[in-house]
Amino acid sequence: MSAHGASITLKGLTKRYGTATAVDAIDLEARPGEFLTLLGPSGSGKTTTLNMIAGFVDVTSGELLIDDRPVHSLPPHKRNIGMVFQHYALFPHMSVSENVAYPLRQRKVPKAERQALVTEALRTVGLAHLGHRRPQQLSGGQQQRVALARAMVYSPRVLLMDEPLGALDKKLRDSLQLEIKRIHGELGTTFVYVTHDQDEALVLSDRIAVFNDGRIEQVGTAEDLYERPSTLFVAQFLGESSLFHGVATEGADGAGVRALDRTLRAGRGHARAGEPAALVVRPERIRVHPIDGAAADQAGVDQSAPAGNAVRGRVRQEIYLGNSRKLAVEVADGTQVLVRESAGDLSGSRPGDEVWLTFRPEDAAVLPATPSHDNTPTRTAN
Ligand code: ADP
Ligand code: MG
Repeated sequence: MSAHGASITLKGLTKRYGTATAVDAIDLEARPGEFLTLLGPSGSGKTTTLNMIAGFVDVTSGELLIDDRPVHSLPPHKRNIGMVFQHYALFPHMSVSENVAYPLRQRKVPKAERQALVTEALRTVGLAHLGHRRPQQLSGGQQQRVALARAMVYSPRVLLMDEPLGALDKKLRDSLQLEIKRIHGELGTTFVYVTHDQDEALVLSDRIAVFNDGRIEQVGTAEDLYERPSTLFVAQFLGESSLFHGVATEGADGAGVRALDRTLRAGRGHARAGEPAALVVRPERIRVHPIDGAAADQAGVDQSAPAGNAVRGRVRQEIYLGNSRKLAVEVADGTQVLVRESAGDLSGSRPGDEVWLTFRPEDAAVLPATPSHDNTPTRTAN
């Protein structure tokens, strides 16, 4: 049942409800056969975007093309798209096989062919032996596999999924993620997948579009977004970041930020000189050098400031994580800077110790602060 995936192109796509803008002039392209994930916090416009692609929500303005053809006026069933929702929406009075056969019946596929396609779809999702059961005789994970089989049984060229694993527990979610990735590889269909879970996005996606407040902040591979976030929002939503807030500077030696009575240098950045900005660096790229405390005594450390980017602080908290540990280090302006040390490379610093924090300019970026916008992501720490 392999199908070639379609391309999907959104140009200035907008959805307004009254005066509220749910999706604000987004540009985005899914390449044929790609696994593209729409990632963002609740209310950022992911579902609305997906529903416009599917045809369940009308477009206010902008363009929506599938394989370079405008589809605005096509009803959902004419768009050759499969869809999986968070809640399985299976027909309770039909068997698993009948559920999966349903879209084929609607399309008037002859019975023999229908049976072959249903068998194949159930095999792909690992449920070949359960076709006779009713949905309520299946676990949540199995029901979601049925929904997936039903969405792909007619070989749509695009599969849309809206938080399909959101209602499942973590272990099941992890195993179904791998399964969805495998199925994507087998089918060659274009997948557009919605989630608010960054780990899920990292596991599944070829590329990720990060949504915030109806707009797309950045589109790229997981590595692009993690290593080279182009906004503070992306830096904070995907993984953890340490921030030094200040004012952008620009010198012959590249981007910098004036913060904590010094100029911190970054290899990248696009903040305008004189404007509020933050220098962003990933916690695992910061090194800790003990100034006092047992670790310093042991190392017999020199108290002078290290060369390059160096900020003095005091360790406030240590979190043991097995293969790594996290330190919260308070710097002069009261900011808590997060540092992650791997178990093989510990500084030995403890809460209460004075330390220098250093990092290489090439591991840092200076990005504009956006005070007009409360875009501090809410995410759970781990
Ligand atoms: P997400 O899927 O990222 O959580 P949604 O696309 O569901 O976000 O919603 C984006 C915004 O649009 C939210 O502010 C939401 O309240 C609003 N919205 C979504 N659907 C409707 C609707 N039918 N009527 C009015 N506002 C809506
Ligand atoms: Mg949603």
